[in-house]
Amino acid sequence: MAPPAKESVFHGIPASPGIAIGTVLILAKNEFSVEQRKIAPSEIEKEIEGFREALTKTRSQIQELQNKIQKILSEKDSRIFDAHLLIIDDKILMDEIEETVRKEKSNIGYVFSKTIQRYIVAISSIEDKYFRERASDIKDVAERILKNLHGREDVFLEHLPGERIIIAHDLTPSDTAGLDRDNVLAFATESGSRTSHTAIMARSMQIPAVVGIQENIQALIKSGDLVIVDGHSGNLILNPTTETLAQYAEKETKEQKFYEEILKESNLRPETLDGFRIQLAANIDKQDEISNARLYGAAGVGLFRTEYLLINSSKIPSEEEQFAVYSELASSMEGHSIIIRTFDVGGDKLSEIITPHHEANPFLGCRAVRLFREHIDILVDQIKAIVRASAFGKVKIMFPMISTGEEVDELLRIVKGVKEELSSRKIPFDEKIETGIMIEIPSAALISDLLARKVDFFSIGSNDLVQYTMAVDRTNEKVAYLYQPANPAILMLIKLIVKSARRHKIWVSVCGEMAGDPRYTPLLLGMGIHELSMTPASIGPVRRLVRSLKMHDAQKLVERSLAANSAKEVIQMSEELISRVAPDIINLAGTGD
Ligand code: PEP
Ligand code: MG
Repeated sequence: MAPPAKESVFHGIPASPGIAIGTVLILAKNEFSVEQRKIAPSEIEKEIEGFREALTKTRSQIQELQNKIQKILSEKDSRIFDAHLLIIDDKILMDEIEETVRKEKSNIGYVFSKTIQRYIVAISSIEDKYFRERASDIKDVAERILKNLHGREDVFLEHLPGERIIIAHDLTPSDTAGLDRDNVLAFATESGSRTSHTAIMARSMQIPAVVGIQENIQALIKSGDLVIVDGHSGNLILNPTTETLAQYAEKETKEQKFYEEILKESNLRPETLDGFRIQLAANIDKQDEISNARLYGAAGVGLFRTEYLLINSSKIPSEEEQFAVYSELASSMEGHSIIIRTFDVGGDKLSEIITPHHEANPFLGCRAVRLFREHIDILVDQIKAIVRASAFGKVKIMFPMISTGEEVDELLRIVKGVKEELSSRKIPFDEKIETGIMIEIPSAALISDLLARKVDFFSIGSNDLVQYTMAVDRTNEKVAYLYQPANPAILMLIKLIVKSARRHKIWVSVCGEMAGDPRYTPLLLGMGIHELSMTPASIGPVRRLVRSLKMHDAQKLVERSLAANSAKEVIQMSEELISRVAPDIINLAGTGD
């Protein structure tokens, strides 16, 4: 009999709180690159037969998906997959692949992926929206074929074989968005960081996650192993002992109790002991998250990341389709406001339909509003849909990634044009719709006094503000130690932004991950931020903390922090204050990294 497997602990970055105990499913690295293997002439026909079977299986999977979509959405939506079927049935393409296998005597997986990659590169270089959409269809269907070819049905993230903990080198935000929510207990990845969009999504989907484990865990752990994912400490425990399992079961019970209690406080005012009020709002990526926002007592939506309408979609939603989404959300807000941010695609949020081209430095490239210089029609359609939705509720429009005053002038001109057009067509909208910008690039922070004269509000995107100020890729685990929201440099910029906003009498919020992390609550409160917008589940702990603090103490902390030597020192001072006034938050809400 084999000896019992030894317990091992891997440490990563805690990306989404919660504890999960379960069976592993390993997601292999890069499905799209297949190694070349020479095959004997006698193997050729078997390879080809396997390939044809994979095509048949893929065809029936897609048809099944179409039926499902037709039931949930509509016949029209299910037609999107017709393009996928056309690719499978492309006889010329498939014959070419089989011919190459016969000629080169290489494994079919390799030949197939090479041929497909060549097609994708060729199609992506055509400056036409239609062809760019086809490139993303080809990629999607090719991934499916490859998975079927290698007999890995289990890696379809949207349809897992049962409850599993996913372990992967990396997960993209679109992988995460498509996760089978009923069956994913948690995930752990070798790469990534706390503010990568994958981590942000995990938090909003309330899936415990650990990222940035800088070890080859895929080689050390296999599918079927038992693990614990601790999204508070960042630990991944392989083969836990009976004692460890008991400890974690107790932790889980305590945590559930804490959140049940916190939930009872959802109606309480987020007000300090000495009477200062701050607004707590929700960040949402998808429409269905609005119920969670309500459950946790959010005073509106401070950030709707609309780019998730594009990710995993094969076409850009039309003005009408977007209008349907935005107006429904606006109507459901019960008088609260909703800030709709225009598409922030680029960086780690690559949408194949808008950004199929490779960029050497995507975070510094054609991201968000910059992208729309080439696709102005997309931006105009979106603005129209948002402005029209303002007839149904308190809608505000927000532009991300602002780096100059001219950009703001240009965007405001477009908004003005849209309003004029709607007026002339007698389409109703709120004439006074507020327009705001995200301050997330240091240049915008430095000229915030100028920008504050142009807009109705600022929202500080701390995730990017830290990334661009500290010159640290927010998704790269190797430099995560430099990703320091509490660095005095960041605090100085936030202080400057608040000063500019207050001077010009506009309001200012923080909608980056700093807003939902209690360690920064006293600092942001003390600096005079009006609103904190966060993942709905973070609202409870932040509300309890706000209600335990005095503004005077928060302001004193800010003063000392601005003169501190390091981010570490600032965090220590903040944690000291929190453990004095709300020890539960430090002990249990555990955000630590
Ligand atoms: C931010 O940068 O802080 C932000 C809220 O936007 P995103 O995370 O989508 O870039
Ligand atoms: Mg941002």
